[in-house]
Order: sequence, then structure tokens, then C-alpha cells
Amino acid sequence: MTQYPEHIWHNGSLKAWRDATVHVMAHGLHYGSSVFEGIRCYETPSGPVIFRLGDHLKRLYLSAKVYDIGMPYPEDVLAAACRDVVKANGLRSAYLRPVAFRGLGGFGLSADCPTDVAVAAWEWGPYLGAGVLESGIDAMVSSWQRVAPNTIPSGAKAGGNYLSGQLIAREARRLGFGEGIAMASTGLISEGAGENLFIIVDGVINTPPVSAGILNGITRHTVITLAADLGYTVVERDLPRETLYFADEIFMCGTAAEITPLRSVDGKPVGAGKPGPITHAIQEAFFGLFRGKTDDRWGWLDPL
Ligand code: PMP
Repeated sequence: MTQYPEHIWHNGSLKAWRDATVHVMAHGLHYGSSVFEGIRCYETPSGPVIFRLGDHLKRLYLSAKVYDIGMPYPEDVLAAACRDVVKANGLRSAYLRPVAFRGLGGFGLSADCPTDVAVAAWEWGPYLGAGVLESGIDAMVSSWQRVAPNTIPSGAKAGGNYLSGQLIAREARRLGFGEGIAMASTGLISEGAGENLFIIVDGVINTPPVSAGILNGITRHTVITLAADLGYTVVERDLPRETLYFADEIFMCGTAAEITPLRSVDGKPVGAGKPGPITHAIQEAFFGLFRGKTDDRWGWLDPL
């Protein structure tokens, strides 16, 4: 049985977990009309820090803007809620989940429903499984494509988008793979079910552009920044599927997945079939932020 944390922030205050309920006719439940974030809090030598809290909240409010989901609280109230929910549950490291959704207030698609807002926090280890940050995962190209840009905007992190992610992730799991990679509607590489993708060929780090049906990930931006800082060339460009088979190294990244190497795609080994040196250097720089080994020159670490 899942062990739930004790407290959750819901519509303005901390409550007991079991009391944070919604009506079965809430709009968001029927139509996917929610926006959310995934944020991590890390334990560091100088205490717990929330990683890029401001950037995550900015994206949450922009996602809400896309769908005209009115946000009843200003950003600083949600920032405080994020801190409070980690502290209230006595957590030192955590995954945080702010969510805002159209609540009960009408049954039509365009109904103006009041917005419910919640922030949960719980302990969550490596998203794609124990040990995968070191060993890597076996991935497959999904039979499902990502949404086309003129259908559902992939840059807004909305609940409805994650129907696509569930199809990709569940197909991969059913077939025995660690994760699925989707092509964009163009037929070019997009991203993982819940992760952005980096593909290293001949020392150059490539990643699909935001126009490839991806979520413009905050970890993706972190990786691009750290990689450039380490002196690597990072190129955002359209990539055909075979790049996955030509690659020397591939890794996925996201708040939940952190930096997860790929050891194979579609049963074909990536490079030597184990995590490579550039992936390792980026992991070291990334996790170094939380171990006090990488200087945070970007103001990404927000003390709890
Ligand atoms: N793509 C998708 C579809 C995602 O859901 C996520 C986040 N879970 C990412 C990429 C990575 O985004 P971030 O680094 O901001 O967590």
C-alpha cells in the first residue's frame, strides 16, 4: 500500500491528506483541464533546497494562462505553500506537485469553474527505477506520436497532455522497456513520455527543439547550461529517428527522471551499451549542485 504523507496544502491552507478531496463532477477530472508542476527539493550540505522553484512556478502560471485557468493565488503564496508542505511533512528531500484545475462549477467545456489549487510533497527516488541513474535503461521508440503543435500545446504542462505520456509509458512497460521515446507529428524525434532527450554524436550534444512537440523542460535548460559551461557544444535541432541508433551516448532528463542514461534503444546498444563519459560529466555537474561540488552561479538553489 502506498504510504501517503500526512499533510497537503489545498485552497489556501495545510490540511490532513485525507481531507484534501474534490467533487466527482470537477471539470478537471472529466476534461483534463488542470495544469501542474513537478519540482524537487534536495538535501544539500547547507540544508534542503528547492531546485528552480521560481522557474517552475513561472511555467505553472503560463500553462494556466494558455487555458484561461484563473489562478486565485499570486506566485509568492504558492512558493510559500511549496516550502510549507515540505516542512509540515518533515521532509529533507522531496518531489513537489503543485496542481491547479477547474473545479466544480459547470458541465460545459467552456464553463467558468472556480480553480482548485493544491501542493503535495512526498519522497520519491529515481523515477525510472532503482539504480538506473548508474546503469541506464533500455528504451524503445513508441508506436504513439506526440501531439502536433496545432492540436494541444506541448509547452503548457496540462493534465490532458499526459494521456499521450501514459500511452507511451504504458506501452513501453508492457513490452518490457524502461521508457518510451515518441516521434513528433513531423516524424522527427520528440521526447520521452515524461522526459526530454539528449543525443550525443561525435562529441556534440544534440537535443530536439521546442517545436518538436516537447515540454520545454527546466532540467533540459539546466543541462544545456551546465554542458555549455563544461565546454561542450550543444545543438538544438531536428533529429531523424536513426540518430538514436548512430548515437555514442543518449540520456533522458526531467525533474522526476533527473539524468537517466539510455543503454539501448529498440534493442540496439547505445554506443558501448553503457553510460558514456559525457553523460557521466553532466550527471556529475548536475548532482554536484546538491552535493556542494558545482557552484550555483545561476541562483537555482532556493533554500527551504
Ligand atoms: N517532457 C515531459 C512530457 C514531461 O512531463 C517532463 C516533466 N515531467 C519533461 C519533459 C521534463 O521537464 P522538467 O525538466 O521541467 O521536469
